[in-house]
Amino acid sequence: MRALVIEDDAGIASGLRHALTQAGYATDLCDTVAGALTLLRAECYDLVLLDLGLPDGDGRTVLQRLRATHTANDNGTQAQTPVIIMTARDAVDDRIAGLDSGADDYLVKPFDLNELLARLRAVQRRMAGRAHPTIRHGTLELDPAARVVTLAGDPVALGVREFDLLHTLLQASPRVLSKAQLEAALYPLGEGLESNAMEVHVHHLRRKLGDGVIRTLRGVGYFVPRAEASP
Ligand code: CA
Repeated sequence: MRALVIEDDAGIASGLRHALTQAGYATDLCDTVAGALTLLRAECYDLVLLDLGLPDGDGRTVLQRLRATHTANDNGTQAQTPVIIMTARDAVDDRIAGLDSGADDYLVKPFDLNELLARLRAVQRRMAGRAHPTIRHGTLELDPAARVVTLAGDPVALGVREFDLLHTLLQASPRVLSKAQLEAALYPLGEGLESNAMEVHVHHLRRKLGDGVIRTLRGVGYFVPRAEASP
């Protein structure tokens, strides 16, 4: 999953990137309204963290543009992308205006990173229309909060990218995702990437989960079939 952090305080921004990366988000940073609008036109994000006081304007401009956009780019709509605004403790009016402009949640600075991550998970669950935090697929279970996967009740040890790849495919199931879509979901912008990285992750996942979970649609991409078709 990909996150965009729009924050002009370099210390806060790098702390957020670190926490989000640990939690499995491929995270991009930008520090201006103009930069954010450019990135949001070109890239597809699963989450946006938005500071309201930016050097070239009000962060709410970004929010309003995002919500007004119906088909942002080739990857589909970003009008529904969850946005969490970050404001100062005394800025009640900012929070109200932010929520009224279409933000999904807000955090008051300074905030605890664990609280941020819990709120991100809650927003993602609401977006996915799931009340239960665990994704079940046949005998496979994935807990995004604990980052734990079990198969028929037995824990499966997965690398960070393997977990993220499985999570992304399970959320999309039974849709097919192209290699480019998966790379965009798993890696931040500008990260050097071996051309066969995705094949290697899929190979490892199949070795750990069996061949039936992740299928290849030759020349198109990868998918997880509906649960009844999995082992
Ligand atoms: Ca600021």
